[in-house]
Amino acid sequence: MLKGKVAIVTGSTSGIGLGIARELARLGADIVLNGFGDPGEIEKIRSGIEREDGVRVAYDGADMSDGEAVRGMIAATIENFGRLDILVNNAGIQFTAPVEAFPPAKWKAILDINLSAAFHGIASAVPQMKKQRWGRIVNIASTHGLVASTHKAAYVAAKHGLLGLTKVVGLETAGSGVTCNAVCPGWVRTPLVEKQISDIAAEKGISQKQAAEELLSEKQPSLDFASPKQIGGTVAFLCSAAADQITGTTISVDGGWTAQ
Ligand code: NAD
Repeated sequence: MLKGKVAIVTGSTSGIGLGIARELARLGADIVLNGFGDPGEIEKIRSGIEREDGVRVAYDGADMSDGEAVRGMIAATIENFGRLDILVNNAGIQFTAPVEAFPPAKWKAILDINLSAAFHGIASAVPQMKKQRWGRIVNIASTHGLVASTHKAAYVAAKHGLLGLTKVVGLETAGSGVTCNAVCPGWVRTPLVEKQISDIAAEKGISQKQAAEELLSEKQPSLDFASPKQIGGTVAFLCSAAADQITGTTISVDGGWTAQ
């Protein structure tokens, strides 16, 4: 389905981004991985996907908190692969504290990585996608792009902003062959959420299993986590011909969280 297409997935050395990269590669796309981690581990992931799926896989270590680096990664991909078809803005970080105690440096880092990186990536990718008359931009937002929770001021602000950006870019590219949409996952069990589970377990003196159950029962009616592979499948759908007329909107994968 995606043979001959080139996809960048930001923050794809772990969690949801890696699930998305694996799914797009399985469907035949060449992949640019991005994110932090142990160089040996990243190389294992890169060569593993290349071997298993018979696609070309590159790694770009651009820091998503640096707008110029984001723009450089897009330019380097177009230079190396000769095209760019899919941009998945997935890299993201979390930090929790009441608003009056929220460290300004954390606020800035979350806004830079979870929101501004998508702006820089999109601004650099759109001209190439328009030239090709085909492009798919998928922003990995969150249920926290639609509703709030306490102690997540920066994250909720950034994710709401990302949905606004998605709508504007959907309008600006309408009819050009380029679409821009967001995916809003509920709880997905990744290192980002594992830390929140550990915090609950430590705070309440309960086991990891009990803390995970508590996390789910508070918000997610299905009482189960979505998987990175399922989020990858949702992104793949948005890259399929069935989604040609879907733009400027969001798909929730949240076990019913935002239906409440
Ligand atoms: P994760 O911590 O497993 O992965 C985050 C990825 O981003 C890693 O590859 C990391 O190296 C990369 N990254 C972090 N800072 C970076 C930077 N400055 N430059 C480049 N890469 C950077 O987290 P995850 O749970 O897979 O989250 C991925 C996305 O999904 C995030 O945007 C997150 O907000 C969103 N999300 C996650 C959940 C969930 O329940 N896990 C729910 C909703 C939305």
